Amino acid sequence: MTAPQASSRPLVEAPIYRRKNCRLCAGKRLDLVLKLCPTPLEDDYRKADRLAPQKSYPLDLACCADCGHVFLLDVVDAGKIYSEYLYVTQTSLGLGEHYDRYAASVIGKLGLPAGCFMVEFGSNDGTMLRAFQKRGLKVLGVDPAAPIAKAATEAGTETVADFFTAALARRIKAERGPAALIAANMVFANIDNLDDIAAALVELLADDGVFVCETGYLLDNIKNLVFDNIYHEHLAYHSVKPLAAFFARHGLELFDAEAVDSKGGSVRFFVQRKGANRPVEPSVAAFIAREDAAGIHAAAPYVELARKLDETRARLHDLLGGFKRQGKKIAGFGASHSVTTLAHHFKLPPFLEFIVDDNPRKQDTFMPGYHIPVFHPKALLERKADYAVILPWRFSGPIRERHAEFARAGGRFIDVLPTVEVL
Ligand SMILES: [Zn+2]
Repeated sequence: MTAPQASSRPLVEAPIYRRKNCRLCAGKRLDLVLKLCPTPLEDDYRKADRLAPQKSYPLDLACCADCGHVFLLDVVDAGKIYSEYLYVTQTSLGLGEHYDRYAASVIGKLGLPAGCFMVEFGSNDGTMLRAFQKRGLKVLGVDPAAPIAKAATEAGTETVADFFTAALARRIKAERGPAALIAANMVFANIDNLDDIAAALVELLADDGVFVCETGYLLDNIKNLVFDNIYHEHLAYHSVKPLAAFFARHGLELFDAEAVDSKGGSVRFFVQRKGANRPVEPSVAAFIAREDAAGIHAAAPYVELARKLDETRARLHDLLGGFKRQGKKIAGFGASHSVTTLAHHFKLPPFLEFIVDDNPRKQDTFMPGYHIPVFHPKALLERKADYAVILPWRFSGPIRERHAEFARAGGRFIDVLPTVEVL
């Protein structure tokens, strides 16, 4: 899930609280391992008529000394973010095909027969559920964004407009029976109260039912320098070891895990009732061994990451400061959740005259906090930018390809990571 419509946000500031204990084990020994620059709500790109100073919230990453869970200490109220959620999955190119492959893979792996009952929470407009529906499963979506739930239901994928809780799970089970499959995609990291999610799974799963969950993967994020995946909507940065212990405490069992090459590295894991019929696959121990070897449940890799980010910021300031002194015009490319984190942490906006983005919903808005204007990419040529800093750096290749005209006209793109480079 990403990118609510820019104009959808209320002007009120979001409520926030700072966690005093671990989300997964309730342990109180929390180590602050990474401190990024505070930012406003990362997707609060505003139109000119709503421009007002935006409050920034800390991006402090803690690691639980007891179980290794890594998470943001400050929790911004989910209701504020999701009840206004106007993003529609289908508008994201390629996701339909991704879910088609996903449905085929999960159904095949678990041997799910046609007619069995499946629930997805955080189901958005039902794009993923429809891939399962097409293959004969009875599906029900759960999503707190009321307008999207309504639209999904009208389009033929019944969706309850609510948060997935133990109380709702009880109601669903009473009305429709237990679920053979419960799914959550790119939403697990956004949920504060995971104890209640576990309780909901215990309520609703059939005896041989499976919970399948895809979420960002901490080890890949660290290894690949994807620190810009850290923003307020993502409360947690999951890894297999703390999750396996968490589910075990709730009478459940994480029995399989797969690497998924999306969003800078993700993991898909499978959970059943403890002692249900599926064996625990060697993949679980293999994931945990890799996590232990990388030391991601303690401070060292984050210290190294912070050092690398400091070094990158210094190089960028040298380079861009030099161009500025020569009177060159520098623009930024990209306006997204991740860009808010990256631009704030590297303190780039003072160097950028404007930003461009392909997404029409972002055009004619202003970047959260710094209020730099976001234009259509044609502004690169029209406003005669000399340089364009590629802020969503993982997509540097496709961006340069799509906007080759800028380079042909003499413009130069700049990469920020993994190394600062004028292209
Ligand atoms: Zn913990």
